[in-house]
Amino acid sequence: MAEKRAHAMLFPFPCSGHINPTLKLAELLHSRGVHVTFVNTEHNHQRLRRPKGRDGFRFESVPDGLDDADRVAPDKTVRLYLSLRKNCTAPLVDLARRLGARDGVPPVTCVVISGLVSFALDVAEELGVPSFVLWGTSAVGFVCTLRLRQVRQRGYAPLKDESYLTNGYLDTPIDWIAGMPTVRLGDVSSFVRTLDPTSFALRVEEDEANSCARAHGLILNTFDELESDVLDALGEEFPRVYTIGPLAAAMHRRVDHAHGIASGLSLWEEDAACMAWLDAQPEPRSVLYVSFGSLAVLSPDQLAEFAWGLAASNRAFLWIVRPGLVGGDRGIDALPEEFVAATKDRCFIAEWCAQEQVLRHRAVGGFLTHAGWNSTTESIWAGVPMICAPGFADQYINSRYVSGEWGIGLRLDELLRRDQVAAHVEELMGGGKKGGRMRRNAAEWKAKAEAATAPGGSAYENLDKLVEELRVEDS
Ligand code: UDP
Repeated sequence: MAEKRAHAMLFPFPCSGHINPTLKLAELLHSRGVHVTFVNTEHNHQRLRRPKGRDGFRFESVPDGLDDADRVAPDKTVRLYLSLRKNCTAPLVDLARRLGARDGVPPVTCVVISGLVSFALDVAEELGVPSFVLWGTSAVGFVCTLRLRQVRQRGYAPLKDESYLTNGYLDTPIDWIAGMPTVRLGDVSSFVRTLDPTSFALRVEEDEANSCARAHGLILNTFDELESDVLDALGEEFPRVYTIGPLAAAMHRRVDHAHGIASGLSLWEEDAACMAWLDAQPEPRSVLYVSFGSLAVLSPDQLAEFAWGLAASNRAFLWIVRPGLVGGDRGIDALPEEFVAATKDRCFIAEWCAQEQVLRHRAVGGFLTHAGWNSTTESIWAGVPMICAPGFADQYINSRYVSGEWGIGLRLDELLRRDQVAAHVEELMGGGKKGGRMRRNAAEWKAKAEAATAPGGSAYENLDKLVEELRVEDS
């Protein structure tokens, strides 16, 4: 029996939070000898300036079926989700078959998708190859999303009326999720905050997570030591879980980063000047890095609470204000002029940056974050403690673990207040006992993340196991 070369076709949901970790996984697989085809939507393929692959790593694209009006509609993500489901199965199957017919390209032997594109499990079935899902949240975020079904069936959500959002109901203890401590209902997921019995988001999340059971294997951007209890419980339901994170750390160790195929590949242009500004900061760990990821949208009131809280903190900060961060597609122009004038000597504002490099810069000592999972793992790997301001999906449960189980951060109340922002910044960055404890814990988790991704570590070994699983034998 001869071993066929493994060929993974990867297809992420088309947004930064899914593309970035999938690209890292693709590079890791490629570094281990797997032939890789990375499929973007045509729209993102153009935005990424038609990226070039190299030997055994190619980029391809399929149309997403959206028109110009869809792309700027308030429900653009829902439209994208539905359009991919409707339009992409046949093009992906065709693409895989065409690839396999080319000289020197081994036939596609597995399909790897991110969350929210479960329709592509059908693509793998049609091709007769195994499928893997890289679910981009923490293990605990994944389990909470699976359990949305029970949350709904037990009548916790949808909420009965608007008063339930503020009357303490979201603090209802949830103590029946295996592998997890008692948590607040509101921490299980943002999607419980709905009054709509037919809530699209609630159903989609629940269905997408549960459909992972159809895949051959589940890949998570976490490491065993970080989430051991919940991973043990998850193993009862999912026999093949590959914990290979933090992906940023694994990449750093296994791929020549500067020459990596994905290096600098971003849907947004990175502002290099913020690195020079960080270099010029004399004190180590003196800068607070502030970013809310690629999708979060703040109201003008929330923006003002963050801005004036940061102004009151008297600490230096680097703030990423991407276009679209503020409702109505506004960005830096939405910042109050008086705030910009008051803080100009100790802050740098940019639209986008090379976040991993920023977090690992010696001048950065804290991260005010929306607690998206990529950002959280990048911060853990960098050993930087966090202030969490969650607003969507798994960000609440991530924040709960950051501030509770892992002891590496604080969280802000759901109703943002500038005085709390300022007080938390002082607590995190200042010389107090609590800040010191969080910094020590962050340093310990950083060391554990490094060990997990080093040879012999759990994540390192799991990546090798995954690669073994992808290799098929010719009969
Ligand atoms: N990111 C970046 N530059 C920025 C802000 C964010 O490169 O200025 C990257 C960040 O490193 C992370 C991703 O964007 O990999 C955001 O993913 P996350 O899961 O944290 O949040 P999402 O954008 O999905 O809400």
